[in-house]
Amino acid sequence: MTTHNAITPVQELKQKLPVPLQRLADLAYNYWWSWSGDRASLFQNIDPQEWEKCGHNPVTILKLAKYERLTQLLEDPDFLKQMSALGQEFDDYMNPTETWVSRVAPQVTKEHPIAYFCAEFGIHESLPIYSGGLGILAGDHLKSASDLGLPMVGVGLLYRQGYFRQRLNRQGWQEDYYVDNIFHEMPIELMKDGHGHPLTIELEIRQRMVKVQIWRAQVGRVSLYLLDSDREDNDPIDRWLTGHLYGGNQETRISQEVVLGIGGIRALKALGIEPSVYHLNEGHAAFCTLEVARQEIERTGKSFYDIEATVRQKCVFTTHTPVPAGHDVFSSDLMDSFFAHYWHQLHLSREQFLALGARRLGDPWEPFGMTVLALRMCRTSNGVSELHGQVSRKMWTVLYPRCSENEVPIGYITNGIHAPTWTAPLMADLYNQYLGEDWKNRAVDPQMWAKVDNIPDRELWWRHQILKERLIAYTRYKVRKSRLERGEEEHRIQAVDSLLDPNVLTIGFARRFSPYKRAYLLLQDFERSLRIFGNTQRPVQIVFAGKAHPADEEGKRIIQRLVEWCQHPALLRRVALIEDYDIYTGQKLVQGVDVWLNNPRRPLEASGTSGQKVCFNGGINCSVLDGWWCEGYQSGLNGWAIGEDAHTSDQELQDRIDSESLYRLLEEEIVPMYYDQDANGVSHRWVNMMKASIKTNAPLFNTDRMIADYVSQVYVPEISASVQPILAKVKV
Ligand SMILES: *Cc1c(COP(=O)(O)O)cnc(C)c1O
Repeated sequence: MTTHNAITPVQELKQKLPVPLQRLADLAYNYWWSWSGDRASLFQNIDPQEWEKCGHNPVTILKLAKYERLTQLLEDPDFLKQMSALGQEFDDYMNPTETWVSRVAPQVTKEHPIAYFCAEFGIHESLPIYSGGLGILAGDHLKSASDLGLPMVGVGLLYRQGYFRQRLNRQGWQEDYYVDNIFHEMPIELMKDGHGHPLTIELEIRQRMVKVQIWRAQVGRVSLYLLDSDREDNDPIDRWLTGHLYGGNQETRISQEVVLGIGGIRALKALGIEPSVYHLNEGHAAFCTLEVARQEIERTGKSFYDIEATVRQKCVFTTHTPVPAGHDVFSSDLMDSFFAHYWHQLHLSREQFLALGARRLGDPWEPFGMTVLALRMCRTSNGVSELHGQVSRKMWTVLYPRCSENEVPIGYITNGIHAPTWTAPLMADLYNQYLGEDWKNRAVDPQMWAKVDNIPDRELWWRHQILKERLIAYTRYKVRKSRLERGEEEHRIQAVDSLLDPNVLTIGFARRFSPYKRAYLLLQDFERSLRIFGNTQRPVQIVFAGKAHPADEEGKRIIQRLVEWCQHPALLRRVALIEDYDIYTGQKLVQGVDVWLNNPRRPLEASGTSGQKVCFNGGINCSVLDGWWCEGYQSGLNGWAIGEDAHTSDQELQDRIDSESLYRLLEEEIVPMYYDQDANGVSHRWVNMMKASIKTNAPLFNTDRMIADYVSQVYVPEISASVQPILAKVKV
């Protein structure tokens, strides 16, 4: 088929490398390395300093590697051995004889994969096209799909500048800035046609034709296709369509959602991929249902209403937002200007078309809702935790006038995390030793996790101490860097050396700083917080990280209050804030903290996943009973619940109740338990709870369990009877 022997980026990189090192290029272009047992060490060894500088990008490392260094590596038997072992492991991973999916759901084939659409994907810090929870979940979804052998392709956007970057000025005010992604230095490949030209698709946006090209990132066995409008033959304005994640105004937003939804379906067609299921992860991608319909109408000549059921049969939807205001809606003016040419192609009138996104039919002022469209056009819909399913059913009863709240057809599949990505290598070693080398393949097995009891208390405690020391070293490095960049005084730079102490009980708090996450809750009673954190006998320390959306002034004020708190003389060594939260910082945090604090205003946390990551690393959750924690928490056993079940709609009162509860938990339970240490400095009561946290949560809140649920309940529901239900509360 190829008339031009277009050379792929992998081949190009190989040509640069001496023959014995060419395997490195295969490894560099597949993100599998980032969750392999080796993690980064192979690439990092090539040039540790450059590795830090380039943001952990293996392609850059290999491209920049000097001839002398490569020659050295050729003569380094350890390096060659490490490389060939990893290469072998990679080949085995990519070509398995059998997988979980080939056993339980052989009807999902490579020829007709599941197509997973999302506006953001958090695969790795070197591919910065994510903002937070939704993207990380999507990344973990693809990784577990790959591990379990589920034929899947991802569809998203390749943002020229990704999400905004954060730095704080001397007043503690967040400044936003953007950094260009250099696509040809990233581990992604531009898709070409048979003539060696970029493969493109066309879309009509704002009365102009826009050409979009397609890149591929390889995530194990899963291909992630990313759309990019930054082409010279586009109008300069249209080149910025895929410029920023969640930037711009409503018009940018709808344009991007047209590229993702309609463009995504066209891209799959251009690539010759015919999915069996389209999974819309959040409403952003809902326009894809219209394009599936349009292509079906074009193929069959039938009417929209005749093919509607066929489309629904192929589309499934996951909703993530528990507040009405969080769902994308577009005014009918905006819809007119973007879709006037399109509804004719669906053989629909304007009114019929707009009705697809209207909550209430017949109201001409009703805006067009992406969630509404998705709920209407998908065969199944689900929330991301049990509580969130309930909240979603209530929120969307209006769409199902014949249903009572409980009958609204929105179920739930609770989110999880990809264990190999988030478990620190030091903990993974321990699991290899005590749970068995294949623990990663058996993450859903409670009996396997029960063997955590065999780990000697001291061993678990000291491993976790080392992870905490690493978090502290990393925090100091980041804080020093920020202070230097702000030009702070010498004594402030030097003070970083005594910031945080590995012998002190350490709390982590990292997330988007939107007001509902209530980062200020700890400061409700300033004096009391000083007594807890500034205590000289049994001190407590905390590390914060997170961004406020550029338009969120209140979120920025919360950050500023935290910065002021950090600077209180009694807390200088006890409170730290790491700027520019990303996956790497996230890993360090969830791996190194003793306690993960999460105190959102209930029920606004749809699921939350950070606290799940913490469990795999022996951390313990202290959280409001919201999202996944409602399902995970077992009183007195595996963590703490802030405010227990006391709920009121009076926000100020709720804040008072919850902060009082949080202070009380810290003062009466958490601090005393942590410092109840034996002569060797080990708290056995604490280790007991660490073990319970792992044993009860790890088998449930991982993405292997989640993917198994999606396969048996959503993607291939006909097999549900034959797949053992894995989600059953684990009792110890
Ligand atoms: C896990 C993770 C999130 C999700 O955070 P939640 O507050 O638990 O939803 C966001 N950002 C990063 C970098 C993460 O690693």
